[in-house]
Amino acid sequence: MANKPATESIDPATTKMLLEARRAGLETAWDRFNKQQPQCGFGLLGICCRNCNMGPCRIDPFGEGPDKGVCGATADIIVARNLLRMIAAGAAAHADHARDAVIVFKEASEGRARSYQIRDEAKLRALAAEYNISSWGEGGGAADLANALLSDFGRQQGSVMLTHRAPEKRQRIWEKLGIIPRGIDREIVECMHRTNMGVDNDPLHILLQGLRTSIADGWGASMIATEVQDILFGTPSPKRSEANLGVLREDEVNIIVHGHEPILSEMIVEAASDPEMIRLAEKLGAKGINVAGICCTGNEVLMRHGIPVAGNFLQQELAVITGAVEAMVVDVQCVMPSLGSLAACYHTKFISTSPKAEFPGALRMEFSEERAAEMAREIVRTAVENYRNRDKSRVIIPREKSECMVGFSVEAILNALGGSPQPLIDAVVNGSIKGIAAVVGCNNPKVQHDSGHINLVRELIRNNVLVVTTGCNAIACAKAGLLRPEAAAEAGDGLRGVCESLGVPPVLHMGSCVDISRILVVAAAIANRLGVDISDLPVAGAAPEWMSEKAVSIGAYVVASGVYTVLGTVPPVLGSPVVTRILTKDLGDAVGATFAVEPDPFKAARLIIEHIESRRKGLGLKV
Ligand code: SF4
Ligand code: SF4
Repeated sequence: MANKPATESIDPATTKMLLEARRAGLETAWDRFNKQQPQCGFGLLGICCRNCNMGPCRIDPFGEGPDKGVCGATADIIVARNLLRMIAAGAAAHADHARDAVIVFKEASEGRARSYQIRDEAKLRALAAEYNISSWGEGGGAADLANALLSDFGRQQGSVMLTHRAPEKRQRIWEKLGIIPRGIDREIVECMHRTNMGVDNDPLHILLQGLRTSIADGWGASMIATEVQDILFGTPSPKRSEANLGVLREDEVNIIVHGHEPILSEMIVEAASDPEMIRLAEKLGAKGINVAGICCTGNEVLMRHGIPVAGNFLQQELAVITGAVEAMVVDVQCVMPSLGSLAACYHTKFISTSPKAEFPGALRMEFSEERAAEMAREIVRTAVENYRNRDKSRVIIPREKSECMVGFSVEAILNALGGSPQPLIDAVVNGSIKGIAAVVGCNNPKVQHDSGHINLVRELIRNNVLVVTTGCNAIACAKAGLLRPEAAAEAGDGLRGVCESLGVPPVLHMGSCVDISRILVVAAAIANRLGVDISDLPVAGAAPEWMSEKAVSIGAYVVASGVYTVLGTVPPVLGSPVVTRILTKDLGDAVGATFAVEPDPFKAARLIIEHIESRRKGLGLKV
């Protein structure tokens, strides 16, 4: 039996649409989650293995049945290998995203992808300098940089270039542990090799490769994606927008862009403002064309153009159930395969665009960078023409939406601070700001939707912890009104004073999931300014509702960077006491940071505050 929607989400727009879904007999992720109960205990503990065809094997967690797989692998080996594969998969997703962005950048700089231009020349030149590219003549510069960036993926020896952005002390820690990544793809491939039957069978050795691969993600793939997207589409700056399903419009053509990459969605935003398209929409009875986002594609266009965001991960199906969406346009990652059959219950065109990602029931309109603007217009036209098929009697758009201020790139934060991180550092030193927490990550029906995010963030800002956010946490905060400067009223006195004097919210939207790399850059800048390592800073990370393998890679590189990280859902590692001990304790000695798991957001906030206070003490700051 279905639960009551109010127990499934704290977001009123979501609970209303869940009620509507059930009234209409439509299944959502929450219903499928309920049908999965009880979930497999072996899987939850991470002690099943399918890495060869002597298996599948599983270890008896109670010590009464088998304690080894057919090959002799113990629970410790199996759990460590499974975790390494999760990290590899997550890093691969970010790596492929970054590669696609670099390829578009390369094509644009060589004159083949004419729809794209360089929007941030200063960033282009600064990045080129980091890659030691000095030639800036005819045809040089940008194309040379694109080739240098591509070489970071397949490099076999040496190190991923942007790891040099980490503080000197951090780089020495990685060097000592032998976990400086050589090439992004190389590390991912090595994970898959090592987890083959009969290769790497020492849990610590396996997990160190996990850290190395995750560093290749955070300080490599994700950082490259962020840099290149800023170069191509502009570095975000603060702007106002709106969030939640209420951004959909009853009298306009609604196009949702969903997934992760801004390469197509940027073009869709442009095509949707084309007067010819707007005239066509008006001819068909609509008042205009409304583009809205979901998940990280949503974050990308939100922070660069102020395009409203319709919701986070668990709201993607609910957007279709409003009956008001003419097209749900998706690229890659976090797109539920259920969308095809759900869209078929409405007039919604579910349009898949990536050559890598096919979905049942999708209308395929494959994207290519050479035809980007043309494709975007075809997609927008398809959506507009579909407006006439909308059944107005089935349209239910929840009224809920909230204002938000978004777009705090590193440059925008520095700008708000007057050009230097010093005022922020001073506020931390004098205690107005106790510390900084990066709260990020997904939704997961294991957690009441958005409650992990919002309760944790509220508790942190109340205790003068400045929150920086990305991904679906950022969208949850936007919906809850926490991304408005007025939300400073909910912060403790110190943080409130700082926010009011700068005119910024107590929760800073820093972008999509790959933009966690922006947070690393800020942490490195503060550490360098103070002459300490990142692990010495009063900072912490949290992913209260994480679900994706990408989040596992992110968590690993955040910890590998020296940031204590609290997870709200339990990773599948508890079947191995050794792996659990390494992650929650031994990593502290190795990299100066550990993982903790705490599903209760109030207790998680307490853990983070205690950690921040211990780091303040370590730096000799007032607690
Ligand atoms: S690798 Fe070992 S534990 Fe895994 S399925 Fe094969 S025999 Fe079983
Ligand atoms: S935060 Fe998680 S669910 Fe949301 S877009 Fe990113 S990976 Fe997907």
